[in-house]
Amino acid sequence: MVDYHLHTPLCRHALGSPSEYLEAAREKGLREIGFADHYPLGLLGVKPQSEVTMSPGELAGYIGEIKALAAGEKEIRVKLGVEVDYLPGKAKELARLLAREPFDYVIGSIHFMGDWDFTHPLQEARYKTLDLAQVYRRYFELLWQACSSGLFDIIGHIDVVKKFGYRLSDDEMEPYWRCTARILKENGLCFELNSSGRAAPAAEFYPGRRLLELCCREGVPVTLGSDAHAPDQVGRYFDDALRLLREAGYRELAVFTARQRSFIPLEEV
Ligand code: ZN
Ligand code: FE
Ligand code: FE
Ligand code: ZN
Repeated sequence: MVDYHLHTPLCRHALGSPSEYLEAAREKGLREIGFADHYPLGLLGVKPQSEVTMSPGELAGYIGEIKALAAGEKEIRVKLGVEVDYLPGKAKELARLLAREPFDYVIGSIHFMGDWDFTHPLQEARYKTLDLAQVYRRYFELLWQACSSGLFDIIGHIDVVKKFGYRLSDDEMEPYWRCTARILKENGLCFELNSSGRAAPAAEFYPGRRLLELCCREGVPVTLGSDAHAPDQVGRYFDDALRLLREAGYRELAVFTARQRSFIPLEEV
């Protein structure tokens, strides 16, 4: 199995050292892991209300630490990834910044609509003050922009706007699902099945079954991540995640080295 979405304490809201995540992966029998901690928003001149990323001065240390962990590990492949916020207007700057780092893959995620960190538990209340249909429209417009930006290898927790359980109906969501699957395909992107949504009020993986099925039908590659913010979350709910992937029609998982994609069959993971 592969877990491509692990955090580190550098982001200030995760616990446990990278080597503790690696040991947790060993206990779970994982074959490959990737760290994807939050890229420093400070490098883009952005300072959110709550600190949720490493600071600019910590990036080199993060890269060095994960590379050293990878070099010292014989059984489990350890990859260097990063989770990057998509911020409209910062794409050019970000492309230049990302190109100079030795990442194996870049996960693009949406956590902000303007100054609203809408996945942050302290900012949940704002859902109640807004028109939900407009919140979803804005989220998916940002997501589609992120998909067309050319910045990312993997799109992270693709329907995370449902995190706190504020949902549109399946009928309302269907056009969003179809459009999203098509845009992923057109841009040659991979997305992740992110198991952390199961533990959130949404009580469902990101994405749920319908979007997975549509993506599989379109031939959009998928990878797998727990979004662990503590070592005991590594590989969380992966038995169910693998079952869901198979049921949706997937037969392989995408993996990355130096931002080049390859695949491993699901039977072998
Ligand atoms: Zn995080
Ligand atoms: Fe995220
Ligand atoms: Fe994450
Ligand atoms: Zn995440």
